[in-house]
Amino acid sequence: MADYKAPLREMNFLLHEVFAADELWARLPGLEGAVDRETADAILEEMAKLAANTLDPINRSGDEEGCHWEDGVVTTPKGFPEAYATFCEGGWGALVGNPEYGGMGMPKMLGAQMEEMINSANISFALYPVLTAGACLALDAHGSEELKQRYLPKMYEGTWSGAMDLTEPHAGTDLGIIRTKAEPQEDGSYKITGNKIFITGGDHDLSENIIHLVLAKLPDAPKGPKGISLFLVPKFLVNEDGSVGERNAVNCGSIEHKMGIKASATCAMNFDGAKGWLVGELNKGLAAMFTMMNYERLGVGIQGLGASERSYQNAVEYARERIQSRSPAGPKQADKAADPILVHPDVRRMLLTQKALIGGGRALSTYVAQWLDIAKFGEGEEKQKAEAMVALLTPVAKAFFTDKGLDCTVLGQQVFGGHGYIREWGQEQLVRDVRITQIYEGTNGIQALDLIGRKTVANNGAFFNLFADDVQQFVDSQADNEALAEFIQPLATELQRLRDVTARVLAAAQEDPHAPGAASVEYLHLFGYVAYAFMWARIAAAALPKTGEDSFYAGQVKTARFFFARLLPQAAALAESVDAGSATLMDLEEELF
Ligand SMILES: Cc1cc2nc3c(=O)[nH]c(=O)nc-3n(C[C@H](O)[C@H](O)[C@H](O)COP(=O)(O)OP(=O)(O)OC[C@H]3O[C@@H](n4cnc5c(N)ncnc54)[C@H](O)[C@@H]3O)c2cc1C
Repeated sequence: MADYKAPLREMNFLLHEVFAADELWARLPGLEGAVDRETADAILEEMAKLAANTLDPINRSGDEEGCHWEDGVVTTPKGFPEAYATFCEGGWGALVGNPEYGGMGMPKMLGAQMEEMINSANISFALYPVLTAGACLALDAHGSEELKQRYLPKMYEGTWSGAMDLTEPHAGTDLGIIRTKAEPQEDGSYKITGNKIFITGGDHDLSENIIHLVLAKLPDAPKGPKGISLFLVPKFLVNEDGSVGERNAVNCGSIEHKMGIKASATCAMNFDGAKGWLVGELNKGLAAMFTMMNYERLGVGIQGLGASERSYQNAVEYARERIQSRSPAGPKQADKAADPILVHPDVRRMLLTQKALIGGGRALSTYVAQWLDIAKFGEGEEKQKAEAMVALLTPVAKAFFTDKGLDCTVLGQQVFGGHGYIREWGQEQLVRDVRITQIYEGTNGIQALDLIGRKTVANNGAFFNLFADDVQQFVDSQADNEALAEFIQPLATELQRLRDVTARVLAAAQEDPHAPGAASVEYLHLFGYVAYAFMWARIAAAALPKTGEDSFYAGQVKTARFFFARLLPQAAALAESVDAGSATLMDLEEELF
C-alpha cells in the first residue's frame, strides 16, 4: 500500500487559483485578518503531516482490531487514544469553531480540505472529531449562553467529544415517530428515557466526557416531526466549577459488528431517566439538528472523496509497478518481461475516472464550503443567496460524492486485479469503509428526495435558478475565450439540459404525486455531473494559461478533457431516465415483486 500523501498542490490550486479564497477571506467581516494565504498553506501542511504520520499508520490495524465492548465500556483499537490526544494537542478540533468559546474561527474552505485529509488517512478515526465539530455547531447556533460557556470550550479542545442521537430501532428515516421521552423537571432540566441505536462515537475511551445531542419528545408534544425537541445529555454530569462529576444515566448496551469503519464505535445507547438540557426551542429540535446535519452531510460527502483519493493514490502506484502484457503500441519497457499496466487503455480509463471524479468533487466541496463561509460570515443579500446555495447543494454533495466514492474505490480495487480483493493492499478496506457513507446521515435516496422536493419543487425552482445563474454567469464571462470553448460550449449545453429537465419535473410534480420521487436519484446524478462540468471548466480556465509553466497545469487541462469527453455524456442518459416519469416504477403490482 502506498503511503498517504496529502494532495496539497491540488488543494492550494483550488483555494488560490480557482476560487481566489484569500480575496474572499479578506472581504468577509469576521474573517479579515484571521487568515491569509500563508496561514492557510501552513495549516494544510501541518494537517498533511498529521494525517500521514499519525492517522494513516493506524488505519489498517484499527480495521483489523476493531472496537471492544465489555460490561458497558467501549475501547477503541490500539493507538487510537494516543492519536486522538495528538490531534487535540494540535488544536485541530477548534479549527472552524467560534472564537468566543475557544474556537479558531477559520473558514470552512480550509476545514473541508482538512477533513478530506483525515478521511483519506483514516475514516474511522475522522468520525470522532467530525461528529464533535458538528455537535459544537448545533450547540453554538441553538444552545443557551450557559450551555455554550459550559460545554463548547472543552469540546473544541477535544477533552469532551460529541455524538448525535437520532435513530431508534423503529425510526431511522422517519424521525417523526421516535419514542424517546423528555419529562420536564423542577430545576429546568429534563429526564430523558429511551433507546437509540447506531450512535457513532456513543461511547469510547478517547475523551473524558461524551456530550450527546438527543432527539426526544415531551409527553404532550404534537405528533410527528413538529413534536421533536433537542437535548444535551452528557455522559458525566458537569460540576459548577466545570469539572466532570457523577455518571449520568446514559449507557452503551452494545456495539455493532459491521462491514467497515470497524474502528468507529457504533453504539446502542440506553437513556434511563438521564438528565438533559433543552437546546433551542421546544418542538423545534429537528430544525436545530439540521444545522448539525447540513454540516455533517458535507462532511460525509467528503468522506467519500477522502476514500477515493486514498484508493487512487494506491492504484496509481500499483499501475506504475505491476507489469503485465505489452502495450498495444509495442513494448514500452523492452528490458522487462512485460510493461507496467499503466500503458493499457482500460487501466488508464479506471485511473482517469477516479482522478476526474475526485478533482470535480474536491472543487465542488470547496465551492460548497465557500457558500457555507459566505452564509456564516457574509451580510445582506449575499448571505441570503449563500444560505439558499448551501441548502440546494448539500444533498448533491453528500449523495454524489459518496455514490461516486463507492464507484471510485471499486475502480481502485479493480486496478489491482485479484490483489485488490485480498486484505494486503488495503483497497478492499476502502470499499468497505466508504459504503456506509451512502447510508448514514440520511440515505442517498433521501438526499435525492430532499434535493428535488424541499429544495426545488417546494420553492418552484428558486434555489435552482440561483445555481443555474451562477453557472450561466461563468459561461457568459468566458464567451470570448476561444481557448476555453471546448469546455464552455458543452457546459452551456448541459446547463440548458438541466434547466429543461428541472422545468419538466416541476410541471410533472403538479399532476403526479410520484413524479418527484421517481425522478429523484437520476435527477441528483444529472445535477452532479453538470456541477462537476462547471467545476472542471473553472479548473481549465485557471490552468490553461499556465500550461507552459509546469506539468501540473497541463495535467488539470487533460483531466478536464477526459471528464467532458468520457464522463459528462452520462448526463444525456440520466435526463432520459428522469423524463421516463413514474409509470414504469409504479405499474408493477405489489404481489408481482
Ligand atoms: C455505521 C452506522 C453509523 C450511524 N451513525 C448514526 C449516528 O451517529 N446517529 C444516528 O442518529 N444515526 C446513525 N446511523 C443511522 C443512520 O443514519 C440510519 O441507518 C439511516 O438514516 C437510515 O435509517 P434506517 O436504517 O432506519 O433505514 P430506513 O429508514 O428503514 O430506510 C430503509 C430504506 O427505505 C428508504 N426509504 C425510507 N423512507 C423513504 C421515503 N420516504 N422515500 C423513499 N425511500 C425511503 C431508505 O432510503 C432506505 O433505502 C448510523 C447507521 C450506521 C449503520
